[in-house]
Amino acid sequence: MAHQHKRGIARTQTALLPAAVEDYVAAHSIVRVIDEYVNGLDMVALEFDKSVPAATGRPGYAPDDLLRLYLYGYWNRVRSSRRLEIECKRNLEAMWLMSQLAPDHKTIADFRRVNARAFQLMCAQFVQFLRGQKLVGGEAPVVAVDGSKFKASASKSSLVTAEQAAKQRQKIEQRIGQYLEQMDQADAQEDAEVEPSAERIEAALKRLRQRDQQLEQAQAELAAQGAGAKAKEERTPRVGLTDPDCVMLSGKGGATLAGYNVQQAVDAQHKLIVAHEVTTHANDRTSLEPMASQAQQVLGAAEMTVLADTGYMNGAQAQGCEAKGITPVVPMPEVPNTHGEAFYPKRMFSYDKTTDSYRCRAGEVLKRYKHDRTAETDYYWTRACAGCAHKARCTKSERRSIARSWYAEAAERAHERARGNATLMRLRSATAEHPFGNLKAILDGGFLLRTLPKVKGEMALGVLTYNLKRTLNILGIEQLMQKLRTHRTLISV
Ligand code: SF4
Repeated sequence: MAHQHKRGIARTQTALLPAAVEDYVAAHSIVRVIDEYVNGLDMVALEFDKSVPAATGRPGYAPDDLLRLYLYGYWNRVRSSRRLEIECKRNLEAMWLMSQLAPDHKTIADFRRVNARAFQLMCAQFVQFLRGQKLVGGEAPVVAVDGSKFKASASKSSLVTAEQAAKQRQKIEQRIGQYLEQMDQADAQEDAEVEPSAERIEAALKRLRQRDQQLEQAQAELAAQGAGAKAKEERTPRVGLTDPDCVMLSGKGGATLAGYNVQQAVDAQHKLIVAHEVTTHANDRTSLEPMASQAQQVLGAAEMTVLADTGYMNGAQAQGCEAKGITPVVPMPEVPNTHGEAFYPKRMFSYDKTTDSYRCRAGEVLKRYKHDRTAETDYYWTRACAGCAHKARCTKSERRSIARSWYAEAAERAHERARGNATLMRLRSATAEHPFGNLKAILDGGFLLRTLPKVKGEMALGVLTYNLKRTLNILGIEQLMQKLRTHRTLISV
């Protein structure tokens, strides 16, 4: 008998697939976790759009079904509404989760677009579930704060400066002039064969005029922005033509991107994200206190320790944390000597709190001579510099001046805690970097939605997916399902 290849079963043969959709899905499939989780949500309380069915018209899709589909999609890195539509028709797990409903991509996309706030509420509610299960928080929790830049749904070239907008408008004007000339020539020839080309020109003109209008608006916004908040944070103020809320950010190695700076606070116990925020800040210097404070409230902790890297060092922020019962542990960055590398660094000047003065290498006392309220900084110097033997190594100016922030002590305390505890610093990187690695994978390629409110919603979906996955890894499927079920019973009683 001749050898044959292995072949499947005839497609026309009936009753070979399980009769019930339930049998398509394995007992330990993640869709069962997603289903159990969504079953426990109060869609009305979470303010999901159309959570109360309309009294008239054709019945719409239930928001909990669309939520199940999105959580499954984000879990499996399928985020586009078109791809989710396809999954509903060919993926057995998606078919099980959706009870074989297959909404079109527009319905799927609309659901994500309009429910940004509901996603954020849902994400916050899950953190409370985690707290109830004692997976986060506790008596004196340790939280790591970190930030990462995520690409916006916009290119760098869509962020224009006033100068670029003016140049582009000039080019558009020239191009419009050329097209109009071509159309005049076509009219003069009265040649029927040029008609399709005239149509194309009209379409091109329409696009150019639309672009010109956008640029005009950008120019108006940049003029109004002036010394506004956004302008203050960026060296050159820009306006986004595609996503008006995203900003130009510097990534690692000096590369730039149009995006958002996402901040997160991660509980060190199990690396679960307890708070997050999508910001347009160019750096992390003003994010320590807001993020630590948000985490403290979420965890209901009277005392808390916050760990962060050098990018977060800011005396005012450290002092703000201390005032709230939060202990900041943040190392100071290596600051270049503003007087030049050949000169004595600031650390060679010792500060004496009792006399509020510095002592220099020559043993002279530098007294406070300026109290700058705007910079919240004091300045110190001595008249002894003129005849000092060290002057050539100390300053090129008439006198050496030392600046001291009003918050220097809080900054020094945060630094000392970090310097004296290498274990805490290792815990910081182990805690904060794991979730961001996962979030980058979940939101691979950056955000799909535009404008800050919608981006916040998408980020909340990403964070919730991460926390759900992480909880599954910690507890295992059976224990997690059991806890979700118990939690549902408790809140519905
Ligand atoms: S130059 Fe002035 S500040 Fe520097 S060591 Fe001499 S006295 Fe001190």
